Amino acid sequence: MRDLLLRGVRLIDPSLGLDLASCDLLLSDGVVAGIGSSLRPSAGAAVVERAGTVVTPAFLDVHCHLREPGQPWKERVANATAAAAAGGFGAISAMANLQPPVDSVPRLLQVVAKNRSWGRVPILQFAACTAGLRGQEPVEVEALVAAGAAGISDDGRNAMDQTTLSELLVRADSLEIPLAVHPEDERVLAMANEWAGSDPTAWSLRPAEAEEAAVASILRAVRETASKSLHIQHLTTASSVALVRGAKQEGLAVTAEVTPHHLTLDGFLRDPDQDDRPLTCNPPLRTRADRVALWEALLDGTIDAVASDHAPHEVPSDPLQKRAPGFSGIQCVLSVLLTDQAASAHLPRLIEALTVGPRRVMRRPGATLPEPGLVEGRPAHLTWFDPAASWSPATTNWLSVGANTPFWRRELPGQILATFSRGRAAYINRGLGEEIGLE
Ligand SMILES: [Zn+2]
Repeated sequence: MRDLLLRGVRLIDPSLGLDLASCDLLLSDGVVAGIGSSLRPSAGAAVVERAGTVVTPAFLDVHCHLREPGQPWKERVANATAAAAAGGFGAISAMANLQPPVDSVPRLLQVVAKNRSWGRVPILQFAACTAGLRGQEPVEVEALVAAGAAGISDDGRNAMDQTTLSELLVRADSLEIPLAVHPEDERVLAMANEWAGSDPTAWSLRPAEAEEAAVASILRAVRETASKSLHIQHLTTASSVALVRGAKQEGLAVTAEVTPHHLTLDGFLRDPDQDDRPLTCNPPLRTRADRVALWEALLDGTIDAVASDHAPHEVPSDPLQKRAPGFSGIQCVLSVLLTDQAASAHLPRLIEALTVGPRRVMRRPGATLPEPGLVEGRPAHLTWFDPAASWSPATTNWLSVGANTPFWRRELPGQILATFSRGRAAYINRGLGEEIGLE
């Protein structure tokens, strides 16, 4: 690939505490060859001057669902990782709730091999906590980590009791891997959905109390074990955020994430393209007051990371068929965040929650990812975007197989121009690529 000299970009690197209003950045042979002012282009370099554009370390998504192998009609690894790169992500973490789940070493090896041959960006693969995500028998954590698991999670389900969780936290601690929990207490959900069938992921009533009960019991397990491994997924309510804030003030080493949709949407959504059928996700969207609390918690550091919870599904053509809960969204994470009026004033904090925070959640992703930080001589692992540009998700530009997003055809601010992952261009915006002669 041609060398690339970016002139006058804003450089935000939270890992180094940097926010430079205007500087030049030279990429040569996949390496950051220069950072400074008035850099001289190397021979044959493409020189791009785009005032107001921003370069940051590549984003890391700690929570997405790839569906393959198992359900390729919902998503494919190649599509999800192309969408990730187009969303600014240089690496992602994939959950274990495939069909069947990743709860044994042979299954993990199969999934990791597919990830490696089909993925456009590196994939940190989670294994399950318990067999079949049923919350009963713990998996062989040590063997799974030795075989390449980056963390463990029963995400989608929350059926473990506190004793099993505590036991697994101790094992995760000795391996220095994250144990991520989907915080919806299934006993509380079961009471709300008395006659709704046996699959808790399909229950439609998901009260806030289920999340608050789960967060309280998770925090008890952390207190009891003094664990440093626990990560709480997709917080959605003001009360559970308050519990996490209190736990951090108390000195508990937990991390937490929030999704772009829980930060920016509330109430009950319907899809105008689909006979106004409901658009739902687990956990559900909450109230405006909850959203305000989530933003406060993101800005004050109670919440460490923004995670997509990319959950692609087919959209059934039969209007009587219920849509599976969840949104396909890894490609529009930054844009959805920027729809909030206050977001651009807090851009460095948002970038921190897409870079440094996710690395903290993953504990030691160093084996897969380059050192954090945009430093001369390191492989280019970075995201370049234009916060002033805009785009609309549509069939012509959407890369995920799943088009189940509430942002379909909405004009969204912010456009990713390029993503480099471990020294390679994982995504170049089409218009930019043509302009400067890069593929
Ligand atoms: Zn979940």
